[in-house]
Amino acid sequence: MKNKQLPLCVNGIYDSHIHLLGTGLKLKTLDLSILKFPKDLLNLNIKQHHFRGDVLFGFGWDNNLFKKNLWKDSKNNIWGQDKFSYFDVLDKYFFKHPVFFVSSDGHSAWLNSLALKKFACKSSGLLHDNLKAKIQNKLKSYSIVQINNSIKSAQAYFNSAGFTHVRDMSCDKDYWSCLLNMDSLLSLKIEQNMGVENPNDFYEALKFSIIAKKENLINIKVCGVKVYYDGSLGSNTALLNSKYLNDSNITLGAKPLIPASDLKEMLKQSWVSNLDFSVHVIGDKASYDVLKIAESVIEEFKQKKIPIKNLNLEHVQLLSQNSLEILSKYKNIICHLQPCHFLSDKYWLKDKLPKESIKDLFLWKKLEDQKQLFYFGSDSPVEESSLFLNKKALTEAEKWGIANINKHWIYYHTHPDKEWTKNSHTILDEQNQKILEVCFNGKVIIKN
Ligand SMILES: [Zn+2]
Repeated sequence: MKNKQLPLCVNGIYDSHIHLLGTGLKLKTLDLSILKFPKDLLNLNIKQHHFRGDVLFGFGWDNNLFKKNLWKDSKNNIWGQDKFSYFDVLDKYFFKHPVFFVSSDGHSAWLNSLALKKFACKSSGLLHDNLKAKIQNKLKSYSIVQINNSIKSAQAYFNSAGFTHVRDMSCDKDYWSCLLNMDSLLSLKIEQNMGVENPNDFYEALKFSIIAKKENLINIKVCGVKVYYDGSLGSNTALLNSKYLNDSNITLGAKPLIPASDLKEMLKQSWVSNLDFSVHVIGDKASYDVLKIAESVIEEFKQKKIPIKNLNLEHVQLLSQNSLEILSKYKNIICHLQPCHFLSDKYWLKDKLPKESIKDLFLWKKLEDQKQLFYFGSDSPVEESSLFLNKKALTEAEKWGIANINKHWIYYHTHPDKEWTKNSHTILDEQNQKILEVCFNGKVIIKN
């Protein structure tokens, strides 16, 4: 890539980890990213369409204001400790209707006492992971019109950012029926994974994937089920080999979200059903646990001559040397990384992780060196889906000693299947960070 002036033309520009419906819904959801102090709760721009039934629903408060401004009152009391509860601060501003506010990483929810009462939930008002998912499921579901509109606005969003191919990590029955009806009209090729936030829903999602895979579709491919093995670094629920530096009695310490024996069975059941399996793993202990399980299943299947499908590791933000060694033995284990997380996380990573863990962060170069299959994505709506943002992250991360990849960065944003991408291309001006043209299935849909 000597002459950087020339526009790049690439087939199958790919975001390998997104939540399509979540991206579309976010555009219509109460935005909580303005919250810096409790008093900002007064300035939220609340509209009738932000309610789900009688519950005010919002998205995007920053986990890392935890124990800092957002939960500290004017007398410097920290909410959630001693006599203060998380719901107290919300109750001061919201006392007429229940409130359910999801954090920007999607792993936590902040509820007022009316919401806790409504959902019969005994808690200080801060829910994480499985419990958060369980309660969120009780909210009034979105209407078919809302879902259809969200799919349309999300695909317009991805197209304008240059993407023709995405890997969608969430799906439920209503969303799936809307998506099916739109198949021939889509302007995105979608690899569909059935994400389950609660591991108890795995077998239902597996059954659903088996049925969904039988559909004869043009723009959608059903891949399999995705589960969560750990939480997030932001909320100290990612599974680490070390202790969190900023851990206190507020956090209970990270635990696997699925027992190892259950996860092993999920992997086996996916593969014997001819489906791939995907697992959310952020911490170094999480990826190592899952890789050990995968190794034993692969060896067992090889012996019994049972076909082996793919295992996708989502995020893999921290990887230990042991994990890299296991990975190097298997070509069917694929990693999906989001460089843009570095740009958001760099402000607090060093407060949480011991020095010796920093060198295990974002190991795209080591994965490249050992010729591992991996792709880049955004985790939209958690982060903006942007090719240029990921490029910036790769460069900025070098300041932390995180080695950059050797290949051109767009390589890891390109779908590998020539057949699946042959009639779709994107022309981009790398120097000016502009998308010049997007062509999908032979038709130019964006020209700038
Ligand atoms: Zn995700």
